[in-house]
Amino acid sequence: MYLCADLDAFFVSVEQALNPSLKGKPVIVGGLPHQRGVVASASYEARKFGIHSGMPTAQAYRLCPKAIFLRGNFRSYAWYSDRFYEILGSYSPDVDMVSIDEAYINIHGTQRLFGPPLALAQKLKTEIKTNLNIPVSIGIARTKIFSKIACDQSKPDGLLLVSQANEMSFLSPLNVRALPGIGPKHMEILKNLNINTVEELLATPDWVAETALGNYYKVIKFFIHGGDYQITDSIKSVSRETTLAEDTISKELIYALFLYLTERACNTLREQQLLAKTVTVKIRFSDFKTVSKRTKMDPNNAQQIIFEHGAKILETLLKEKKRVRLIGVALSRFDYDGLQPSIFKVKEERLNRLNYALDKARVKFGFNCLFPANTTILKRHFKDTEHGYSLHTPSLSQ
Ligand SMILES: [Mg+2]
Repeated sequence: MYLCADLDAFFVSVEQALNPSLKGKPVIVGGLPHQRGVVASASYEARKFGIHSGMPTAQAYRLCPKAIFLRGNFRSYAWYSDRFYEILGSYSPDVDMVSIDEAYINIHGTQRLFGPPLALAQKLKTEIKTNLNIPVSIGIARTKIFSKIACDQSKPDGLLLVSQANEMSFLSPLNVRALPGIGPKHMEILKNLNINTVEELLATPDWVAETALGNYYKVIKFFIHGGDYQITDSIKSVSRETTLAEDTISKELIYALFLYLTERACNTLREQQLLAKTVTVKIRFSDFKTVSKRTKMDPNNAQQIIFEHGAKILETLLKEKKRVRLIGVALSRFDYDGLQPSIFKVKEERLNRLNYALDKARVKFGFNCLFPANTTILKRHFKDTEHGYSLHTPSLSQ
């Protein structure tokens, strides 16, 4: 069982916790009305005026001039988020924070300590309320996806458990908007087909729904039948690293090797249909000093994008100007490919098609049948085999 916990109107709730006089009022965090900002978070009182996150603050001001506009204080939000994470961690060792105010908790095996799921959820809600003075909504279900939908439906300050037997009766009457990943474009297409509820969508012939939603329809069916992000639980990170036969100071060689290792790691991500949200770069210098640094990115598995992020880190790590002995890349914090709205972004979709084609060719003709021009230097340093370069110390750890 999974429990999805999501703090309600998080930024606004923190402001209200810090300054109780803001409670019960239309409050907007994101910028002042005369500035060019967007609403980052709106209190439920402000939402009654049609204000929602992502809306320009100027427009929000027109809808509700008496609303209280705040610039926001990200330090306090991060502090509250950390406390939230600590509390969740006292209920289960398996907590997956997916954003600053939202997490999935695997509650399998917590029964003995905390009682049945609803009792645990009630305790958790009370603890968050007492310690943080912030409302939280909680959904519980067999999969993360259903727990997320249940959580959304329970808002604000709600608690909803959907048993496996009730999954379909819970989902059927909901507006298709409730499905994760359904965007405005999909909504428009479905509206034109007069499809409003999930039940109506599922009653539509497959070929119609597939034409309307493309691949996304498969994703919907996948999780309706119990599929989940859970594949991400089995693998925590994919990493590739190698020690050089001879320490080097050549930037050309270091970057080429880093690109090659990134390609190998991304190739594995695509095989597992995973998208990574963090890239970590590791360098060991000739004096054995080891440094590593990580950065967050939009979920993806394209070496072209990940290399860009990694190269920036590499640049800062190489400021030490010492000979390099080992280079490594690790990709972590995964999403299941196909469940991210980003698959509808044109550039990524193009890279995606290119890379999957690349993988296919490499299976057939060997990994180095195709290689980026800027890794040509590797040919001079490593033996080329059908499985790729034969590295000094290949690491295939996951
Ligand atoms: Mg939230």
